[in-house]
Order: sequence, then structure tokens, then C-alpha cells
Amino acid sequence: MQGYKLVDLLSLKESLLKDLRKNVDMKKVKKDEHSRRRPIFCGMTIHPGYGCSLGCVYCYVYDMGITTVTQSKLSGMELVYALLINKYFLPKETLIAVGSITEPFLPQLEEKTYEFIEHVSTWLRNPIQISAKLCPSDPYRLLNFDKDISFLMSFSSYSGVLEPKVAVKDRVMCLKELSNVGIKTVGFIRPIVPRITEEDIETLLQGLKDAGVQGIVLGSLRVTPRVFRILSERFNLKDELLKRMLRKEFKDKSDQVSVFTNDIKRKIESIALDVGLKTFPFACSANIISHGMGCNLCSHGPCGNYTLRDEVSIYEYFEHRKVKMEILEFSRKCIVIEVSKGRVRSEDRMILETYYKVPVKVK
Ligand code: SF4
Repeated sequence: MQGYKLVDLLSLKESLLKDLRKNVDMKKVKKDEHSRRRPIFCGMTIHPGYGCSLGCVYCYVYDMGITTVTQSKLSGMELVYALLINKYFLPKETLIAVGSITEPFLPQLEEKTYEFIEHVSTWLRNPIQISAKLCPSDPYRLLNFDKDISFLMSFSSYSGVLEPKVAVKDRVMCLKELSNVGIKTVGFIRPIVPRITEEDIETLLQGLKDAGVQGIVLGSLRVTPRVFRILSERFNLKDELLKRMLRKEFKDKSDQVSVFTNDIKRKIESIALDVGLKTFPFACSANIISHGMGCNLCSHGPCGNYTLRDEVSIYEYFEHRKVKMEILEFSRKCIVIEVSKGRVRSEDRMILETYYKVPVKVK
């Protein structure tokens, strides 16, 4: 891991906020969701746009009320600024995930996707991961921005029946092209739809292996009432889904219910092993490894080459925050601190976990 201290990253945040101020429309930036949102498990999702026109059968974006494709109103610099004022965000360290709630390479969004990636990479240097179903028209541009960029291509099945607008063979071909130019590619098998994903999975995995991917990530299915109805009626999956849904009732029409697929994941993992593919526990793992970093933040770790950083950064951080504390445990497994004066806020914990990449507990 790089040798910078946490206070250096926070100073970098401060100085960039000063230097870039004149380049942004502050009102717009403050209103934008990137300035406030808490990163999720795979990191901070950044949105070059909202909505998607690919019409994948399982997609719940339509149930979130996003019915058309619109481009983000932010410029690349404004996105950088929004991230800098986000109290949960740490330059160089917070994982960046591009490609949720939209397809980043839709023709009307591709340029914005490049612009966002270019600016994040130039000013903040955070590790970037993209998930997509369409192929970037200029892969060298991605590589130039982030030479270790992690690229996930999604597939729900070999037949492609749930993703009618992008042929599976085109996606596999794209992975081959990207791997050939040096991009670290991964097959994202998601969402796992019982029976449909399982069918011919070995052929799909073999195709991914031949295309040069570094491994696969498996992702679960969540259904809204509409998705449940379509999968039940069109694909005769009602009984199978009902057996696996973690709740049988929906609260409202946008409610998402998780579908249990761990048994199917284990099967796919074992087939992947047979064809010579490793399975990353989550997308974040592929991003961490692609960038030569290490993480031990959850029970699936350590991922990559994890080294615990010096504890001096904790003392410096809390001194700056005027919080009196003592470290009770400092290990590769977790950091436990006891506070005697002041208050530790949720963003403090997140910043420390983002920097040290182990769970931080506060007493
Ligand atoms: S330990 Fe691995 S799977 Fe867990 S959060 Fe870190 S990168 Fe992700």
C-alpha cells in the first residue's frame, strides 16, 4: 500500500477544494447527490446518467421511477468537487464504481462517462471500476485515465434471453478486445436467475475464460412486484422464486425483495474452478486486486496484498477532530478505539475504514 498518511489525504481534499472552487457552479454541486451520498459496499457509485434503454427483463430501475435516460448535469470538474465536499469520501482510497442505475456506454452517456472518469482519475486518483453491457468505443481512453481500471461485463445467462438488446457473443467479443489492449476484465454473472442463469453456464464461463477475463463475480437477484410478475408469467418461474424469496409480500410497487441464490452461486463457483476461473467474492475485490491494493474490511477478505498501515494516522486524525481516545486493539482483523472525550461520527468511522481497510469499532 502507498505510504501516505491519512492527514495528507485530508489536506489534499482541503487544498483541492480551494484550488478548484472557481471552476464550479457551487449551487449545482451542493444540490447533487454525489456531494452527500454514503458509499455502499462496493464503493462510491458515480452516475454519468440516470435510467437505461436496454430493457433487461430483471431491471428495477424502471420501478424507481426512472423512465428515460438523462445525462448528469455535472461537468467532470463539478463531479470531482461534489466528491470532495462529500464527508464520506477520501481521495485515492474510496473505491469508485461506475455503472449502477444506468449503462455507462449508451450513446447519449458515453462521452460523460469518459469525462467523469478522466476527471476523477486526474484530480483524485481513486481506483475505478466500470460495470457495463455495452462495449466502450475507445478502450484506450479508459486505459490512459487509469491503467489499472477494472472492467466488469455483465451476463445474466448464456442464452441472453433476459437481456435482449445486447447479444452475449458481442459482450464476450468486447471482453476479448479489452483484455487484448491490457484492461483487466472480469465476467459479472448477475443477476443470478434460478434455472435461466444455470442453463449452459459452463459454456458461458469457458467463453469468458477464452476471452481473457481475470475471473468472475457473482451477483444476486432482487425482484420488484413487476419483475416478479414478468419472470413468473414469461419464464414460468413463480414457484421457484417464491421458494427463494426472503419475503413473500411486497410493501409497495418499488419494493425490492432479495432472492436466495447462494446454492446456485456455489455451483457456479465450482464450475468456474473447473474451467480455470477464480471467483472474486464481490465486485470491490476485483477493483482492489486490479489496482494492486489490499483490503480486509469484511469476512471475505483479505483481498489483494493487505498490509496494515501505521496507527499514527488514527492519533493524528482524532487530534485534528479534538476527540480524546485510546486504541484498545490495532490488528489486521480490526481496530477498536475507546473515546473519553468528544463524539465519533459515522463519517469518522467510514474515513478510517476507507483508509485502513479493516473494520473500526468505537466504544
Ligand atoms: S475484504 Fe474484499 S470483499 Fe471484503 S470489502 Fe474488502 S475488497 Fe471487498
